[in-house]
Amino acid sequence: MTEQTSQIATVPDSDYVIFGGTGDLALRKIFPAFFWRFLDGQVTENFRLIIAAHHIVSRDDFAEKLRPNCEDAFTSGVANDDNFAAFIGLMNIIELDVVSGKGADNLAGLINEKISADRPCIYYLAVAPSLFGASCQLLQQADLVHPQSRLIVEKPLGHDGPSAKLINNEILSVFTEEQIYRIDHYLGKETVQNLMALRFANIIFESLWSNNHIDHVQITAAETVGVGQRAEYYDKYGAVRDMLQNHLLQLLCLVAMEPPSQFNASQVRDEKLRVLRALRPANSEDIVRGQYQGYEAELGRTSNTDTFVALKVFVDNWRWAGVPFYIRTGKKMAVRASEIIITFKRRPHDIFSTIGQSQKGDAPNRLVIRVQPQEGLRLQLTSKEPGPGGMRFFPSELNLSFGETFDQRLPDAYERLLMDTARGNQTLFMRLDEVLAAWQFIDPIIDMAKDTAPHLYREGTMGPADTLLAKAGRDWIDPSEDG
Ligand code: NAP
Repeated sequence: MTEQTSQIATVPDSDYVIFGGTGDLALRKIFPAFFWRFLDGQVTENFRLIIAAHHIVSRDDFAEKLRPNCEDAFTSGVANDDNFAAFIGLMNIIELDVVSGKGADNLAGLINEKISADRPCIYYLAVAPSLFGASCQLLQQADLVHPQSRLIVEKPLGHDGPSAKLINNEILSVFTEEQIYRIDHYLGKETVQNLMALRFANIIFESLWSNNHIDHVQITAAETVGVGQRAEYYDKYGAVRDMLQNHLLQLLCLVAMEPPSQFNASQVRDEKLRVLRALRPANSEDIVRGQYQGYEAELGRTSNTDTFVALKVFVDNWRWAGVPFYIRTGKKMAVRASEIIITFKRRPHDIFSTIGQSQKGDAPNRLVIRVQPQEGLRLQLTSKEPGPGGMRFFPSELNLSFGETFDQRLPDAYERLLMDTARGNQTLFMRLDEVLAAWQFIDPIIDMAKDTAPHLYREGTMGPADTLLAKAGRDWIDPSEDG
């Protein structure tokens, strides 16, 4: 076990059933996250991890496939062959076809062995959304849905508002809203939660956190990779649906929301919902869609799908009136980094202009919230250059790098979210009304995009949206590779 154990909240003994347990999401994200929680002692030998596999595999084969995805635990010295074998020992692998129902009896037998009101049984649907309805029906018909049952689903929950409603109606016909955990893994990231701590556990920013002092906000989520093997899947969604509708709007909500009166699921989500409902419908002049050169060659046909999108958004309420939020996300960009940058207004009066000193290095104050990688916070200030020569300015920074400040590994978002599900804490999951409000904002953007071709951009650039800010005399602030 690692040194963090004493700080870790206990989680009730639980059963997790992973539908699509041999798929990409399960092998790359879900099981490595469980392994770290096991190493930290949060998942104990009393848990069961049930792999519902469409095509059965042996435990040894499964372990062999999983092991490369757990490499960071081995290289950090925490994992070894023995604890990995013990972890694999928690697994039960059964064959299950959610369409034909083959294997449902085995699943029921296994679950019923340990069924109890105080033992959460969590069904994680790591299958295509088109199988969500069939999966829920299967669980209901096998009498496997009880008050202690919970359901985890991932985006994309639909490709527009109506299809999102349809999918949600399917799962809501079997599970209640309180049993459903809709993952947006950005919400599980340490820095994203820290944004709430920064805003609501400190007093100093609150009085500055409005149109009185903030000039504009930029949110960038840049990836260097392209679509690669996922071209077929990605082409149905594009950057607007894949990133903007969920991750980026969620980040915007956390920046813009009012302080809830308590940090609990319903109040936090109520406040985020208010932000989504206050978004001014986007205007076509304020949206730039892009596609990286070579995308169509990767896909093997022509396509109108965006791999980049940038837009200017306003939150129409008292706090944010007139403050633009510039948001962009894209693939094959110059850096891999996600950052939120709050740029404060210029000082109202410049006392230094009268002494005729150079203003080189005099920039507005900025708060940079680095979401990934190298998570941390930086407050950019203007300081006096040391030494004689008058009042010359240079930009300086108060830098809080979480990696350096906290000498411990930052858990992956999935680790936190998986444990929150067993603890029954929905704060970091999306409620249905939030999902639908986000689609309500996004649907018209998708509609507008239908008739326009995305701008082509070169790999290794920051996309084709410079004009969006230039119109207002502003520039994008590009994240650096190393934070
Ligand atoms: P995937 O690799 O294709 O895995 C899907 C799994 O579903 C496979 O194990 C597949 O088994 C199984 N399956 C197919 N038909 C089935 C049936 N009739 N009954 C039971 N199982 C069946 O896809 P994925 O990338 O893991 O994605 C899974 C879900 O997570 C999707 O909703 C996706 O949008 C979402 N998601 C994925 C990621 C990611 O990083 N991969 C990220 C965010 C969200 P066989 O292969 O044996 O047929």
